[in-house]
Amino acid sequence: MIKDTMNYKKIKLKPKKEESLKRFHPWIFSGAIQSKDDTLEEGEIVNVYTASNEFIAVGHYQIGSIEVRVLSFEEEAIDLDFWVKRLSSALELRKSIGLISPDNNSYRLVHGEGDNLPGLIIDVYADTAVIQSHSVGMHESRNIICKALVAVLGDNLKNIYYKSETTLPYKANLGAENGYLHGGKDIAEVAIENGLKFYPDWEKGQKTGFFVDQRDNRSLLEKYANGKSILNMFCYTGGFSFYAMRGGAKLVHSVDSSSKAVMLTNKNVAINFPDDERHEAFAEDAFKFLGKINKGDYDLIILDPPAFAKHRGAIRNALQGYKRLNAIAFDKIVSGGIVFTFSCSQVITKEAFRLAVFSAAALSGRKVRILHQLTQPADHPINIYHPEGEYLKGLVLYVE
Ligand code: SAH
Repeated sequence: MIKDTMNYKKIKLKPKKEESLKRFHPWIFSGAIQSKDDTLEEGEIVNVYTASNEFIAVGHYQIGSIEVRVLSFEEEAIDLDFWVKRLSSALELRKSIGLISPDNNSYRLVHGEGDNLPGLIIDVYADTAVIQSHSVGMHESRNIICKALVAVLGDNLKNIYYKSETTLPYKANLGAENGYLHGGKDIAEVAIENGLKFYPDWEKGQKTGFFVDQRDNRSLLEKYANGKSILNMFCYTGGFSFYAMRGGAKLVHSVDSSSKAVMLTNKNVAINFPDDERHEAFAEDAFKFLGKINKGDYDLIILDPPAFAKHRGAIRNALQGYKRLNAIAFDKIVSGGIVFTFSCSQVITKEAFRLAVFSAAALSGRKVRILHQLTQPADHPINIYHPEGEYLKGLVLYVE
């Protein structure tokens, strides 16, 4: 294949604005740009040059504060070869850490900047891959990504579902954001995580259909579950609940405000533990539910709320929310109980989250010790040059 990169339009940076790119940070902010081709359109691939006309990066152009998301720091064509290379290297990483097996066929194949593909998420559930674009460039590239994915995953892949209705920038209005790009008829309904079955619901569920990012933390929870009464707050499709059941919990209560999520939780528990009366799920607001229970009802409480802060402007209120939520859990947990508490807000640092939990502990007057500090799993890698990729934080706490 002839690699013709000359066709890409050009962006020129202001003097000295290439420093962060030399350190492989994959974003170019609008303030760093000196000039660009007049005809440049959103989603196009663009070559970026320093003020002294040296090539520095190639990436996707987008209107907004981040104008370029870098795909490569080498002067190369972003063609099928490129996509195959990148997806193969993402797959190799997952294979090399032993993540993919008959016992675990659900995993994140591409985690945006963490896999050097800013704006792209690909989750795999059994024989289906779900692609999610967070940038117009990735949306425009969806068909070539799909082709590369078929080449890389081979016979293991029967379906590709594209789901970007809610993740693309509001202005884009690009159309055709959800639907099958490949297959779509012969779909394995059940996927497996650490030997436990579940029904991922990419068509109607949240995100790509399941929260794969809690896999390792669920395994840890399983080790704590034996003989305990467990409350899984913000359960979504019940991931923590079915691990708790396998861990030998005495009782598991799952709570989510979405009745659809509660239905899926019941379905996922039932496929692993049919007719097991230890589990019950409730469609209710978390604060309401916590308000009603008595101190000592539960030995272990899991708090995994949705991102309270989706942007910087919401940080203050979000921290108040985490404080309030954790304070109620500390009030209600049995003496000698355990709390698994999480934040998935990317804009909230682990230090800020820990401070909010500290304030909650102080408010409740309970003695609290940190047993584990948790984060996202290895299939959600963090590019060291892009610390913004770290988003999931958790603490396992012992409450006296
Ligand atoms: N722990 C889950 C993921 C949680 S996602 C897992 O392991 O898969 C956050 C969940 O919180 C969503 O399912 C959402 O429906 C629920 N939620 C949002 N606001 C809520 C509220 N006020 N009360 C209860 N649940 C809520």
